[in-house]
Amino acid sequence: MTKKGQLIVVSGPSGVGKGTVLGQYLASRERIAYSISATTRNPRPGEQNGVQYFFLSREEFEQTVQNGGMLEYASYNGNYYGTPKAPVEQQREQGNDVVLEIEVQGALQVKKSCPDALLIFIAPPSFEELRSRLTGRQTEDEKTVENRLNIARQELKCAGEYDYIIINDTIEQAVERLNQIISANRYNKNNMKEFLDEVNQNA
Ligand code: 5GP
Repeated sequence: MTKKGQLIVVSGPSGVGKGTVLGQYLASRERIAYSISATTRNPRPGEQNGVQYFFLSREEFEQTVQNGGMLEYASYNGNYYGTPKAPVEQQREQGNDVVLEIEVQGALQVKKSCPDALLIFIAPPSFEELRSRLTGRQTEDEKTVENRLNIARQELKCAGEYDYIIINDTIEQAVERLNQIISANRYNKNNMKEFLDEVNQNA
C-alpha cells in the first residue's frame, strides 16, 4: 500500500521570503510537489503561465470554483487566488507530499476540509524588517506596499491558528527548521493512521 503524501500549507506575509525558503527546501528534496495556484492577478515581469501561476480571467476562475475544482480559494488585494484540487489529490495518492504556498484565509479553509494538513507560518523577525524587505523589493508601487502591510498585520494575527511558526531571520536556519518540522510530521499519528489500522487488523 502506498502511504498517502502529506499536505503541507505554508503561509506568511508578502515579503517575508517564504518563496526563497521554500525554493531552497524543495531544490534538494524528492517526492514533494509544489502546487501551482491559479490567480486573476496580472503576471509580474518574468512570470509565465503554468510556472509561477495559472493566470486566469475572473470568469474562468469563478467557473472553476463553481465546478468544485478548487481545494480552497480567497480574495487577496483585489484578486482571486486558488489551489486547483485535482493535481493535489493525484500527487498525494501517489505518495508524494504537496506544498501549498497560500495566504491565511485559504490555509484556514484547508485546515477545515483536510484536518490532517500541516500548517506552517513563516514570520518576519519584526514588522519593521518586513516593511524594509517589501520596500526594497521594488516590484510594487507604494500603494500596493501599504496594502500588503495592512494585510500582513491581519495575517500575523492569525498565525496562532497554525501548527508551527518559523521565524525567517536567516534563510539557512528557516530552511533547516522547515525540514525538521516536515520530517517529524511524517510520523505524526494522523499520517500513521493507515499503518496503525493495518497493524491492528492483523494483531
Ligand atoms: P503574490 O501576488 O505575491 O504572488 O501572492 C499574494 C498572496 O497570495 C501570497 O500570500 C500567496 O501566498 C497567496 N497565494 C498564492 N496562491 C494562493 C492560492 O492558491 N490560494 C490562496 N488562498 N492564496 C494564495
